[in-house]
Amino acid sequence: MIRGSCLCGGVRYQITGALSQARNCHCSMCRKAQGAAFRSRASVRAAEFEWVQGEDLVTFYESSPGNHRGFCRVCGSPILSKFDADISYYGLPLGALDDDPGVRPQLHVHVAGKAPWFTITDDLPQFPDGPK
Ligand SMILES: [Zn+2]
Ligand SMILES: [Zn+2]
Repeated sequence: MIRGSCLCGGVRYQITGALSQARNCHCSMCRKAQGAAFRSRASVRAAEFEWVQGEDLVTFYESSPGNHRGFCRVCGSPILSKFDADISYYGLPLGALDDDPGVRPQLHVHVAGKAPWFTITDDLPQFPDGPK
């Protein structure tokens, strides 16, 4: 079981399966949404994601067509992203997790849009846009 929650504690969720596709995204949308140099995120199967409380607090913003970023409307914490193109999984920002997700980011994507004030100092593969 992997648990997560927002800053104010109003939103809580749990994940019963394994995460996948862990990566750091440096695109400008992720940087703004996180208020950080990049967004560390993974994929979670929708069927393995359960709200514990506060689902009604989650507001979605369509940052690009079909990409809905959900955040707590009280404290602003990013909670999950939904995709019209595939509703079977969600994008999950790792920063809201309370437990070790069991995965580690394996690559950097959208480094062409990277913040000029941040230097990547690890040896993980870097992709100018998305991989593939
Ligand atoms: Zn909150
Ligand atoms: Zn991004």
